[in-house]
Amino acid sequence: MTQLAITNPATGQKIADVLADDAASVAHKAQRARAAQPAWAKVPLAERKACIARFREGVVRDLPQLAEVMTRETGKPITMSRNELNGLLPRIDFFLGMVDAVTAPEKVYDEGGMTERIEHAPLGVVANISAWNYPWFVGCNVIVPALLTGNAVLYKPSEFATLTGLEIARLLHEAGVPQDVFVPVIGAGPVGAALLEQKLDGLFFTGSYATGARIAQAVGSKLVKLQLELGGKDPAYVCDDADPKAAAESLADGAMYNTGQSCCSVERIYVHEKVHDAFLAHFVAAVKGYKAGDPMADDTYIGAITRAPQLDVLDAQVADAKKKGAMLHVGGERLKGPGNWFAATVFSNVDHTMEIMREESFGPVIGIQKVKGDDEAVRLMNDTRYGLTAGVYTHDRARAERILSQVNAGSLYWNCCDRVSPRLPWSGYGDSGIGLTLSTYGIEAFTRPRAWHLRSA
Ligand code: NAD
Repeated sequence: MTQLAITNPATGQKIADVLADDAASVAHKAQRARAAQPAWAKVPLAERKACIARFREGVVRDLPQLAEVMTRETGKPITMSRNELNGLLPRIDFFLGMVDAVTAPEKVYDEGGMTERIEHAPLGVVANISAWNYPWFVGCNVIVPALLTGNAVLYKPSEFATLTGLEIARLLHEAGVPQDVFVPVIGAGPVGAALLEQKLDGLFFTGSYATGARIAQAVGSKLVKLQLELGGKDPAYVCDDADPKAAAESLADGAMYNTGQSCCSVERIYVHEKVHDAFLAHFVAAVKGYKAGDPMADDTYIGAITRAPQLDVLDAQVADAKKKGAMLHVGGERLKGPGNWFAATVFSNVDHTMEIMREESFGPVIGIQKVKGDDEAVRLMNDTRYGLTAGVYTHDRARAERILSQVNAGSLYWNCCDRVSPRLPWSGYGDSGIGLTLSTYGIEAFTRPRAWHLRSA
């Protein structure tokens, strides 16, 4: 076992040393989970639900402290940490409310002494390799339905959200989930790679395309059920009949919330030429109103950049946009440290030769492009290798639905953005991933439908 240093990205200061796993301890944990899973699957669903309900109570009870832990290790503004934890509660309620119906055995045929039944068995031992940007959301989207449906979970939080991962483990264990049924695996990429070497029945990953593709290659020959929830370059289009101020305020928040470090952040905006200038003025005004600073302060909106290397990506996108003729309205540079900081940045006069309109920024930068009409907007929205979300702002719902039905994205928004619902499936086209979480399909994903053919003698 080695030590993993946890650093506060807002100050650059080390805040903790945590014992990390190595290949031997990962293998040992996987064996323990394998041994413990059958007994967990036999625990009546009502008892597994009671454990998750107690976990929810623990989240409510400890919420202020959990928010502080998350803010200290990720640099997420404290109000947004509280929002994430509060937003987790209806997700847990959804899973608790739906799991009985989704996993109930189904008799699909019963005639002439022949009965056919579908059983929803657990997958077995599943691994969850997770991201840091919404660690409670993306972790619990997997952990909660996986445990409810009788799986054991090996959970590797991101090395940038380790303390949060350990809090999730503490609360689940306190709530009665056995230590070997929910097992945190601690460390960075190499520890994740060690996890892939274990015998797994499902692998659920949230993170970047680059890591997701590497993982898919690594486990390809093992034929493990694989889900990859990856990045996006999410577009929005503002039509000529939209209210430019309302659209600008909604989209500025969608682009800059969580300091732009959301998989479903608005990453590029197309605006009809008739409302472009008014929209741009309102958008820049909204962004100038966002206060950057101490993530622990209640009035902070722009927090730290969690991973220092992302600053180089943002620098490169800004330099590339400037070189190719984009117009900078605000920001465009790093903010003074200590810690990792980047100013909220708005460019107009952008096009698809620029990285800022093509590659995930994952930071507080946005390009706004003028378009002549709906056809051009649809063409540009689809000019991407990603496809997580897309939005349209217009008074005309039929027009929005006509446009959105032509866009390749898993989630489609009319007059809203950067929104996730527990009732709806969360998935992406292309390099945004494979598989899904949330909705009833996101419970089913952790089960194996087994076919029973029963002939009475
Ligand atoms: P990342 O790919 O750097 O890391 C994700 C996880 O993979 C971490 O736990 C990391 O330790 C682990 N890892 C790294 N190398 C590994 C390897 N070789 N084998 C196994 N595991 C390995 O991503 P990140 O920086 O944590 O997250 C940001 C990315 O996640 C963005 O692209 C964002 O869009 C995406 N994301 C997507 C969703 C979604 O729902 N689609 C949600 C949140 C974040």
